Amino acid sequence: MREIIIDTYLCSGCGTCVELSPEVFRLGDMTGKAELVTVDPQITEAVYEAAAYCPEKCIEFFPPRS
Ligand code: SF4
Repeated sequence: MREIIIDTYLCSGCGTCVELSPEVFRLGDMTGKAELVTVDPQITEAVYEAAAYCPEKCIEFFPPRS
Protein backbone atom coordinates (compact mmCIF):
# COMPACT_ATOMS: atom_id res chain seq x y z
CA MET A 1 0.00 0.00 0.00
CA ARG A 2 1.41 3.35 -1.06
CA GLU A 3 1.08 6.37 1.21
CA ILE A 4 0.76 10.05 0.38
CA ILE A 5 3.11 12.29 2.32
CA ILE A 6 2.56 16.07 2.44
CA ASP A 7 5.40 18.23 3.71
CA THR A 8 3.29 20.88 5.41
CA TYR A 9 6.37 22.95 6.19
CA LEU A 10 6.88 23.52 2.46
CA CYS A 11 3.18 23.73 1.53
CA SER A 12 2.15 27.28 0.60
CA GLY A 13 -1.58 26.58 0.73
CA CYS A 14 -2.02 27.45 -2.93
CA GLY A 15 -4.87 24.96 -3.35
CA THR A 16 -3.70 23.43 -6.62
CA CYS A 17 -3.87 19.90 -5.23
CA VAL A 18 -7.41 20.55 -3.96
CA GLU A 19 -8.50 21.76 -7.39
CA LEU A 20 -7.02 18.74 -9.14
CA SER A 21 -8.00 16.07 -6.62
CA PRO A 22 -10.61 17.36 -4.15
CA GLU A 23 -11.60 13.86 -3.05
CA VAL A 24 -8.11 13.39 -1.59
CA PHE A 25 -6.82 16.86 -0.63
CA ARG A 26 -8.30 19.78 1.27
CA LEU A 27 -6.91 22.85 2.98
CA GLY A 28 -6.96 22.71 6.77
CA ASP A 29 -9.27 25.25 8.40
CA MET A 30 -6.71 26.18 11.02
CA THR A 31 -3.47 25.73 9.12
CA GLY A 32 -4.46 26.80 5.59
CA LYS A 33 -2.22 24.01 4.37
CA ALA A 34 -2.94 20.83 2.45
CA GLU A 35 -4.10 17.76 4.32
CA LEU A 36 -5.69 14.45 3.40
CA VAL A 37 -9.48 14.19 3.40
CA THR A 38 -9.34 10.57 4.54
CA VAL A 39 -6.69 8.53 6.32
CA ASP A 40 -6.21 6.00 3.55
CA PRO A 41 -7.18 7.58 0.22
CA GLN A 42 -7.15 5.81 -3.10
CA ILE A 43 -4.20 7.06 -5.14
CA THR A 44 -5.53 7.78 -8.61
CA GLU A 45 -3.89 9.43 -11.60
CA ALA A 46 -5.45 12.70 -10.42
CA VAL A 47 -3.45 12.42 -7.20
CA TYR A 48 -0.22 11.90 -9.12
CA GLU A 49 -1.17 14.84 -11.29
CA ALA A 50 -1.74 16.99 -8.21
CA ALA A 51 1.73 16.05 -6.94
CA ALA A 52 3.27 16.87 -10.30
CA TYR A 53 1.64 20.30 -10.40
CA CYS A 54 2.32 21.20 -6.76
CA PRO A 55 4.50 24.31 -7.08
CA GLU A 56 6.35 23.52 -3.85
CA LYS A 57 6.88 19.85 -4.78
CA CYS A 58 5.78 18.87 -1.30
CA ILE A 59 3.51 15.92 -2.16
CA GLU A 60 5.42 12.66 -2.18
CA PHE A 61 4.63 8.96 -2.15
CA PHE A 62 6.04 6.14 -0.10
CA PRO A 63 7.11 3.87 -1.50
CA PRO A 64 7.91 6.18 -4.43
CA ARG A 65 6.22 5.57 -7.76
CA SER A 66 8.51 3.54 -10.03
S1 SF4 B 1 -0.40 22.06 -4.39
FE1 SF4 B 1 1.31 21.77 -2.94
S2 SF4 B 1 1.73 23.83 -2.12
FE2 SF4 B 1 -0.30 23.88 -3.07
S3 SF4 B 1 -1.74 23.45 -1.36
FE3 SF4 B 1 -1.28 21.49 -2.39
S4 SF4 B 1 0.44 20.61 -1.23
FE4 SF4 B 1 0.31 22.79 -0.70
